[in-house]
Amino acid sequence: MVVAEFPEYELLAVKQKWAALAFQAFPRPWRRDECWTPEEAARLEALVAEFTAASERICERCGNDGTLRETRPIELILCDACEPVVGLDGRW
Ligand SMILES: [Zn+2]
Repeated sequence: MVVAEFPEYELLAVKQKWAALAFQAFPRPWRRDECWTPEEAARLEALVAEFTAASERICERCGNDGTLRETRPIELILCDACEPVVGLDGRW
């Protein structure tokens, strides 16, 4: 369900982490036969949006202030120090 709602889940490590944190922070587990209330859904949406926005400014490698780098097949948020040391495949 998280993967379906967050297409970038597997691509962006920080977003994956934040999304997981936001999901775990939800007041009660989602069940197939028990839908969230609109208030709960809105709260989760706000949480995820908040974490997603924060992650877009944080270097995925070291956690410092970073910016979106579009020089690789996958997009990464990296700081100026980490940008030159991360390979084209996004691994470090
Ligand atoms: Zn960095």
